Amino acid sequence: MLLIAGTRRPAASGRTFEVLEPATGSVLAEVAEAGAADIDAALDAATRAFAGPWPRTPATERGRVLARVAAGIRARAEEFAVLEARNAGKPIGDARWEVEAAASTFEYFAGAANKHLGAVIPVSEPGLDVVLREPVGVCALIVPWNFPLLITSWKTAPALAAGNPIVIKPASLTPLTALLLGEVLIDAGVPGDAVSVLPGPGRSIGDGLTGDPRVAKISFTGETATGAHILRTSSDNIARVSLELGGKSASVVFADADWERAADETVMAVFGNTGQDCCARSRILVQASIHDEFVARFAAATAARTVGAPLDETTELGPMISARQREIALEYIGLGTAAGAELVTGGGVPAGCDPHGFFLSPAVLAGVDNSMRVAREEIFGPVASIIPFRDEGEAIDIANDTPYGLSGSLWTRDLGRGIRVARALRTGVLSVNSNKSVRTETPFGGYKHSGLGRELGPQAMDHYTEIKNVFFSSE
Ligand code: NDP
Repeated sequence: MLLIAGTRRPAASGRTFEVLEPATGSVLAEVAEAGAADIDAALDAATRAFAGPWPRTPATERGRVLARVAAGIRARAEEFAVLEARNAGKPIGDARWEVEAAASTFEYFAGAANKHLGAVIPVSEPGLDVVLREPVGVCALIVPWNFPLLITSWKTAPALAAGNPIVIKPASLTPLTALLLGEVLIDAGVPGDAVSVLPGPGRSIGDGLTGDPRVAKISFTGETATGAHILRTSSDNIARVSLELGGKSASVVFADADWERAADETVMAVFGNTGQDCCARSRILVQASIHDEFVARFAAATAARTVGAPLDETTELGPMISARQREIALEYIGLGTAAGAELVTGGGVPAGCDPHGFFLSPAVLAGVDNSMRVAREEIFGPVASIIPFRDEGEAIDIANDTPYGLSGSLWTRDLGRGIRVARALRTGVLSVNSNKSVRTETPFGGYKHSGLGRELGPQAMDHYTEIKNVFFSSE
């Protein structure tokens, strides 16, 4: 079933498609496939909602509704977690964490709804000049498969907090938790017309939404090439567009750092979510004097990770999302070794896993040069490239020598170096002596080909509002 105008219903065409369980390769669900008539119905409803009470509901009241959404997610937390674990192949512990993070996102924007302030500007003319924030209009929210519920929440919560109606397009591989979230939104009191969820093929639904003049704002997370395509399809309508795109983030480890801790902690910064993470520290830059010891420790810690079935509580790394995504990762491992890199560990199908699932043991490539394709292109799989560097200047040059600029880490005990390198790296998010990239309260997004605009934090509200300047003459 789709969700159109707050109501579950079949697609107008009656068509459905199969959703697989990556751990077994078998069919998990049959989902209604939206088509042109469904897009039209969803956008008509959203347009009605924008003319209706939701944008004019006091921000405090919208915040209360979002607080009920957070409670609604928590009340069904295990249902969400098991569904996400099975559909996206996530270890159940990670899925539970993501469900709680989704609830926290709604809680944060519940509080932000009545704190997104305008301004009073001291102009020269006699009178009063005020800056107002107003909802932007119908928002199309397009979501990838790697963090399905969480990324849907990052977009849905600020869009609704600002008073906008939404149409969610989940990834075809993982539409299930977005549909469940739609139910929670309606139960919490978001008006039906303001919420639709349209699973179905990216190209047709995506183009149908992004090229439609009823859509005022598009928030997209996914591949850089798709983001560029959306800029083109939405350009005639001058839609507001924010994009969270790919990454090839560096973790830069200096010899003066607590490099043993860096080695241990960076394992999950690359391989968490089986490497299918736009923030994955897939390039690990290590100072030459500690390189060999670092590689040995990092590879041993990688090989010790448990790859297994998502619902097994001991699993640390689940399967990849699809057979195709695993093929891509294997192709890159082959490209890396053919170019002269050494495969130190991983890269095979782990023993004990369902042979019909899309499992791959995490692979460490050492002796990588930044010019190799494994270092330049986003793999989106469990493949780490370790690259040696001589000194600070070379580390900065290598880290910045990429079309991307999403995330990154810097490991040093030298405060001055920490400041210098942090300022020099061209990336939207950076952690010093840590690998964490995402906090609900802080802006998240990329430089260069990693995106446009920011999600989370107070800055997210800017993207879902228009600024109106009003001058009241006192003459
Ligand atoms: P895609 O760009 O293929 O898909 C993302 C979403 O866009 C899906 O819902 C997809 O639908 C939809 N889509 C596909 N074609 C179009 C189109 N023409 N117009 C509008 N929407 C379209 O990315 P993936 O799902 O494969 O996700 C992996 C990629 O996303 C990686 O490159 C990764 O780095 C990036 N990513 C970036 C993040 C960030 O925050 N910067 C976070 C997570 C991922 P369908 O599924 O039906 O094809």
